[in-house]
Amino acid sequence: MNRSRAATYARRRKRRMAKVEHDLTDAQWAAILEAWAGCAYCGADGAALQKDCILPISRGGRYTLANVVPACRSCNASKCNLEVVTWMRRKKLDERAFLVRQAETLRALISGGDQAAV
Ligand SMILES: [Zn+2]
Repeated sequence: MNRSRAATYARRRKRRMAKVEHDLTDAQWAAILEAWAGCAYCGADGAALQKDCILPISRGGRYTLANVVPACRSCNASKCNLEVVTWMRRKKLDERAFLVRQAETLRALISGGDQAAV
């Protein structure tokens, strides 16, 4: 009985935290999707892409422009709350290419407001 109460409490708190930390706008998310044009980790396109926090929420990450990339369902589920470099190495993905591209994409997103018109 106690346990389920605690679980409910934890779930509520989690939801509340997620709300507070979420400051990525829909427009920013659309721009991120367009910039990557596929899964940020494995490059899959055409898949349903989900918001993935590079630094997981459980490790202090937030849903912000600098911390969110599109991930396919498979990458998102597999990465879960692992540290991104650890996970990419384990998956034999090119974490260096990812980090470089992520930095470039972020720079373009921040500076590119006007010229970003399709
Ligand atoms: Zn992927």
